[in-house]
Amino acid sequence: MTRASRVLVLNSGSSSVKYQLLDMDDRSRLATGLVERIGERSGRLTHTPAGGGRREREGRVPDHGAALRAAAEELAADGVGLDSPGLAAVGHRVVHGGRRFTEPTVVDEAVEAEIERLAPLAPLHNPANLEGIRTARALNPRVPQVAVFDTAFHATMPEYAALYAIDAETAERHRVRRYGFHGTSHAHVSRRAAALLGRAPGDVNVIVLHLGNGASASAVAGGRCVDTSMGMTPLEGLVMGTRSGDVDPAVVFHLARTAGLELDEIDRLLNERSGLAGLCGENDMREVLARREAGDGRARLAFDVYIHRLRKYIGAYCAVLGRVDALVFTAGVGENAAPVRAAAVAGLDGLGLAVDERLNAARTAGPRLISPEYARVAVAVVPTDEELEIATQAFAVVGS
Ligand code: ADP
Repeated sequence: MTRASRVLVLNSGSSSVKYQLLDMDDRSRLATGLVERIGERSGRLTHTPAGGGRREREGRVPDHGAALRAAAEELAADGVGLDSPGLAAVGHRVVHGGRRFTEPTVVDEAVEAEIERLAPLAPLHNPANLEGIRTARALNPRVPQVAVFDTAFHATMPEYAALYAIDAETAERHRVRRYGFHGTSHAHVSRRAAALLGRAPGDVNVIVLHLGNGASASAVAGGRCVDTSMGMTPLEGLVMGTRSGDVDPAVVFHLARTAGLELDEIDRLLNERSGLAGLCGENDMREVLARREAGDGRARLAFDVYIHRLRKYIGAYCAVLGRVDALVFTAGVGENAAPVRAAAVAGLDGLGLAVDERLNAARTAGPRLISPEYARVAVAVVPTDEELEIATQAFAVVGS
């Protein structure tokens, strides 16, 4: 019998499920898909098999269970359903692993209970992730479900980077500390950046800027994360598409006391109506750049606030690391927005950072350097691939 080599990766968000089926023998993608608008009046599934020929289905998708069952039907139609013997594991992106989960973990009852216990720290994500796990298991109880945690890579942060300076006993009792997120991406990208430099991950210090709709920076010393910009939740740190990033916590008291806003309203304000969207009404960096080009003042200011925050974190992580070998841009904005990269390092020659205009403007699919030869620190663009990283980690767990 041939060895099972396929891994299905599931990324269950609050109202969507993204999935990819990978063959770990050659790391190829056998199918990718997305189920959107779960729980809304009308949902949609888009499924693309390896050879192309995208299929779409419209119709109500009441919950995550239904979403995954629909995806399973599409995979089965391609002959690679969840019950096929070639499936080695289902790898789940689980957002919050708290302090307990620092490695990819095969999900059993105890693990499931712990993910549930962590739900108050990630109320939109962990319950959706759990539903994904439960449904996938119901579809084929024999295949191991592996949880790969967004927080895991950051577990190596020293206590002085992970703790907030608040009453220690209160913090401990309520698990208030900095966990960090996007860990799978930071792990993947920092490793690929070392490879791009032709060095072992253990020998290089890297700053990773994961700039997508959500955004975070991390400082990685010798392959281990020593600081990251997201905190107890993904709200802290950089300016994002719709999240504020760092604000004075007293803003919350002020809005509650003086503006009379409920806590849930402030939560939504800071998570969903802030960041670029809050500053200029647009969360997509492509639109912000186009409007800025056209002379729109609000878009220009939003861009400037975004860049200013980014530069502060670059400076901070230079200090945290002491020596920096590479500054790496990744995710939707980081991989595609040359003006963001240029503005982020403009004038930072004193820190050894510079970007070559021509290299920065070029477009290639793989990892590449964009710094001039004379620069002390390599500046690079490295595409992230969270699904491949999750599949690799899940496969390693069930293979060992
Ligand atoms: P997510 O955080 O949702 O996974 P991505 O990493 O895919 O997001 O990043 C999505 C964001 O990337 C979009 O909202 C958009 O702002 C930005 N983006 C994508 N392509 C470009 C581009 N060519 N130029 C500027 N920004 C881009």
